[in-house]
Amino acid sequence: MTEDFSLQELSRLRADFPILGRVGRGGKPIAYLDFSATSQKPVQVIDAISNFYRTSNGAVHRGTHLLGDESTAAFEEGRAILADFIGGRANEIIWTKNATEAINLVALAMRNATQDSGAKPSPVKLQAGDNIVITRAEHHANLVPWQQLCAATGTELRWLDLHEDGRIDCETLGVIDEHTRLVAFTHVSNVTGAVSPVESIVSRARQCGSLVLLDTCQSSAHMPVNVRELGVDFAVFSSHKMLGPTGIGALWGRRELLSQLPPVLTGGSMIEDVTMESSTFMPAPERFEAGSQPIAQIVGWSAALQYLSGIGMARIAEHERILTSYMLEGISGIDGVRVLGPGADKERIGVVAFAVDGVHPHDVGQVLDSLDIAVRVGHHCAIPLHHFFGVRSSTRASVGPTTTREEIDRFIEALGQVRSYFGGK
Ligand code: PLP
Repeated sequence: MTEDFSLQELSRLRADFPILGRVGRGGKPIAYLDFSATSQKPVQVIDAISNFYRTSNGAVHRGTHLLGDESTAAFEEGRAILADFIGGRANEIIWTKNATEAINLVALAMRNATQDSGAKPSPVKLQAGDNIVITRAEHHANLVPWQQLCAATGTELRWLDLHEDGRIDCETLGVIDEHTRLVAFTHVSNVTGAVSPVESIVSRARQCGSLVLLDTCQSSAHMPVNVRELGVDFAVFSSHKMLGPTGIGALWGRRELLSQLPPVLTGGSMIEDVTMESSTFMPAPERFEAGSQPIAQIVGWSAALQYLSGIGMARIAEHERILTSYMLEGISGIDGVRVLGPGADKERIGVVAFAVDGVHPHDVGQVLDSLDIAVRVGHHCAIPLHHFFGVRSSTRASVGPTTTREEIDRFIEALGQVRSYFGGK
């Protein structure tokens, strides 16, 4: 079933989110249109975290008592739940604190592999003349770590360029060549909402013998994501964008690649044996999980994934597709508002950044907030992409599974007032 949610279903769903009852500064319920920055949490997630601390809290993989055993079971069950959600295997999931850390983990492990003169040649060890390819549409989280890796190893950083509306231009796929070791790109842009042409990029990368890393931060809560079907080697996930808590994310990687990545953080819980002179390390995933782990966050994220699966990702995608078209149509009727991204006829989701003629995004955001509409303003951690569009910052409205037409109506009406509020036409 992929039809839009019924009104009844939507109101049942909204009743699961206590925060949606919050009234804003203007005295109305807050219309939350900031899902791209972070999602709100259903009571099932909040209760799972609270119940964990009330009933089962213990350290994982360290001891024999009942509470420790229950915590360990929940911790490992979480891996299986995420693996199932994304089409991977449990032993391919590495817990990180967010998606940013997951990307840094790969970049830093590649740096360690490259700088270890004794390490055997492997797909993650860079050689002179190699390059890494990203796109001009990346969040800084998938740009700066590669700049740092390239600077440290003397590797060239290249990027795919964009169409005028911010979609990745496949005519520029030629920058991926036989010296490309990794292509790292976002599944969906956090500014334009454009869905990347994964199949074309993966196919070009494969022809050239390159690995592929996919940043799913803006896709995994809004559409089905299956890492094996997408054909990538690594993918990163962020719980707080997926109805789960902050403080937890994950790296998924193909097993045979994870086993070739050297550790990044070292210390307790990741060793096989330790002498005063040296240590040996556990296999993945434990090799990458030094120190105490965020168990309650994993429990909360697991509840969020089960909640999303209960609704069905294809249905969420369809609900949001309809709302996105509705929002874009509403914006197109307002003079002086330019959408930074493709129209509804292109493959895109409900992340809609825009510039209002003559009004600074912070002012736009403040007017909307005074009318109890929550949007994001700023550069959204994508400065190069904003420069591409010839602006320094923008306002961004983004939808989620709980978004209603009524919330979008309120947003469009308020946006219509913004220019006149600041003395424009
Ligand atoms: N990549 C994209 C496309 C994002 O939108 C974000 C967050 O906004 C990130 C990466 C960073 O995610 P995290 O907050 O989990 O580090």
